[in-house]
Amino acid sequence: MRTYKILTVIGARPQFIKASVVSAALGQSACLREVVVHTGQHFDANMSDVFFNEFRMRKPDYSCSIHGGSHGAMTGRMLISIEQILLAEAPDAVLVYGDTNSTLAGALAAVKLGIPVAHVEAGLRSFNMAMPEEINRILTDRISRWLFVPTASAAAQLASEGVPHSRIHSVGDVMFDVARRHGARCDPDGALLGALSREHGITAGAYCLATIHRAESTNHADRLRAICAALIALGRELPVIFPLHPRTRQTLRGLGALDSLAAAVLLIAPLGYRDMVQLEKYAALIATDSGGVQKEAFFHQVPCVTLRDETEWTELVDAGWNRLAPPTSAAAILLALRAAIGTRGQSVAPYGDGNAAKHIVTCLERELAGSPQRQSDTAIDEIYPS
Ligand code: UDP
Repeated sequence: MRTYKILTVIGARPQFIKASVVSAALGQSACLREVVVHTGQHFDANMSDVFFNEFRMRKPDYSCSIHGGSHGAMTGRMLISIEQILLAEAPDAVLVYGDTNSTLAGALAAVKLGIPVAHVEAGLRSFNMAMPEEINRILTDRISRWLFVPTASAAAQLASEGVPHSRIHSVGDVMFDVARRHGARCDPDGALLGALSREHGITAGAYCLATIHRAESTNHADRLRAICAALIALGRELPVIFPLHPRTRQTLRGLGALDSLAAAVLLIAPLGYRDMVQLEKYAALIATDSGGVQKEAFFHQVPCVTLRDETEWTELVDAGWNRLAPPTSAAAILLALRAAIGTRGQSVAPYGDGNAAKHIVTCLERELAGSPQRQSDTAIDEIYPS
């Protein structure tokens, strides 16, 4: 039997988490073989290595160590490195996740060489082109051959943009797969929450978990200050635990806002996935600008306030699990946080059956084994139908 080579490009925290289940499913395929490229976009031990260890993922075959600099410089350096790897490896398909610079660089390098691209988490839109993530996801969707969508609304969005139905594959959300696998396993007494309880008197069901990392929050001092002021005020009523993304820590330090925040909120280093899941699962409330954390709040049935102007995961707002609090005023954020505590949304199941990774691999097996020899021109013609 012929084997087909899938080259996966990952580089940022949520991508390691998503890839953990897909790479495991690829490892079980009889006809697909995976080569992994880590661009280096996230490189700290607690933003990268911890996930490879926790999920027992194989070390990447290639590590490009590209991080920092402007978006253009970073994406450009990634393009150059990934192209070299693609020329050497000649994979049958390239697999990318989500909406980071690593996603776009992987997809763009591949499509220019006539290598078909598979995009996991396709079809999401914030309709805010000021977000780097929105630019990355729209461009990646446009040049992908297989668009693996997590929700019905993502499928409908792609169809409305003219993507042929044959390219849209409704597989469900790989993060739901991960949450199902790892969420059930934790209890409130051990691990991190146990330690926080002993050291800080924080108890299960009686704290807010906060995460902030998006450029739209960290690049706007007034928005970041409003978020901090709201969390400081909430901290007088309910303990707030805030694992700080390195970029957020750096920005807060630059603004001189770190000390006042640290006095009212428990600031901790970025967490591994298991500790994060434990804190999510036993929180009274989650406040975040993260895409993944919004969904995990729902997976663990915890009310969530999204500190953004809009969200790609609108079904959770519609179902009452999530509410938007644009970070323009500390008072408005605080009201939204208070109002969310103790609420529950409707019973909905928008993210598939928890086997998204398996569905992705089955689809790739079928499509690659069934496809004629790939040709550069054919691939480009297919992607840009006349
Ligand atoms: N996460 C984690 N440790 C943390 C913060 C987040 O493991 O300290 C996980 C979180 O549980 C989710 C993912 O990282 O699975 C979300 O990534 P992030 O918020 O960085 O990116 P986004 O989802 O917004 O693209």
